[in-house]
Amino acid sequence: MSYPKIKIDLDKIKNNINIILKKAQENNIDIMGVTKGFACEPEIVKVFLENGIKMVGDSRIINLKKIQNLDLIKVLIRIPMISTALEVVKYSDISLNSEIKTIEELNKAGKKLNKTHGVILMVEQGDLREGFLPEEILEVAYEVEKMKNINLEGIGTNFTCVGGVIPDSNKIFQLSQLTEKVEEKIGRKLKIISGGNSSSYHQLGEVDLKRINNLRIGEGILLGRETAFGENILGTKDDGFILEGEIIEIKEKESVPYGRRGMDAFGKKPEFKDRGLRKRAILALGKQDFECESLYPIDKGVEIIGGSSDHLVVDISDSKINYEVGKTMKFKMGYGALLRGMTSIYVDKEYKK
Ligand SMILES: *Cc1c(COP(=O)(O)O)cnc(C)c1O
Repeated sequence: MSYPKIKIDLDKIKNNINIILKKAQENNIDIMGVTKGFACEPEIVKVFLENGIKMVGDSRIINLKKIQNLDLIKVLIRIPMISTALEVVKYSDISLNSEIKTIEELNKAGKKLNKTHGVILMVEQGDLREGFLPEEILEVAYEVEKMKNINLEGIGTNFTCVGGVIPDSNKIFQLSQLTEKVEEKIGRKLKIISGGNSSSYHQLGEVDLKRINNLRIGEGILLGRETAFGENILGTKDDGFILEGEIIEIKEKESVPYGRRGMDAFGKKPEFKDRGLRKRAILALGKQDFECESLYPIDKGVEIIGGSSDHLVVDISDSKINYEVGKTMKFKMGYGALLRGMTSIYVDKEYKK
């Protein structure tokens, strides 16, 4: 047993999957379960599989490789690197794409491996991360359709990742219209119309999703939340992953740093409010392992003051709990903290079944 540690409650993840899948099924939407938030740990992916998820997506091939023996459709959701084309075709069934040159390389890799690789063409709809421009998509679809070892599975789009753009009915209409134009161009129906991530979940049952039949959901399953509105999804749990860290110092100290001040360890100049002497604790965990801004103390009397690479400083003056050096403190995590914590070799993982 070592700290920091992430305690994973598989029942809570199962609960979230059940709620999300039920709502999706009622609205004729397939869910791609996104696994990058927990580095595609097979123990958790098995819970996805056992509870009705048939397709999973991860941004890294090294993660998908871990689940090569699980009977799931595996999707690489970050645009592939040409240097990894062979691995992409070997360890994923489908990849999201936005460069014709890359798809040509996947086609060559497919030929070498005697395998057909599926592609979903991503369309830029304003979030300004990946995607073909809408005006190039017809020509691209036509070219891809001719490639022998590539199967054009569908088209997709991405929201609220870089630009924070929220999907609305206008975007849904555009994507559906584009779908129909592509189908006309290639003379057949597309299988997958992937309309976004957890930030599109709130649209289920609210707006007509038209041709969209697939959503890629990570945060919603793991934390019962979605980024755009930050609201909890009704009935889901946000504490399936709990961070526990050990206290290495407790002292009464000033609330404002004293002495001549420059930058902190990360080149920032944080501001502090003078609250006099405060009781502070230091935990043995830091930015190396977590995004400290997305850690939420379970004890409401605890406030996070700041962190450096290996230390987290919290104010415990208002807590009713009698903390001691050597004891632990628990936190809920946001997506950023979860991502980093689950991939850190310094963080222990413990499964509660
Ligand atoms: C991370 C990611 C998702 C999942 O996003 P969530 O907000 O966790 O649901 C979906 N699609 C792509 C392309 C991604 O990179």
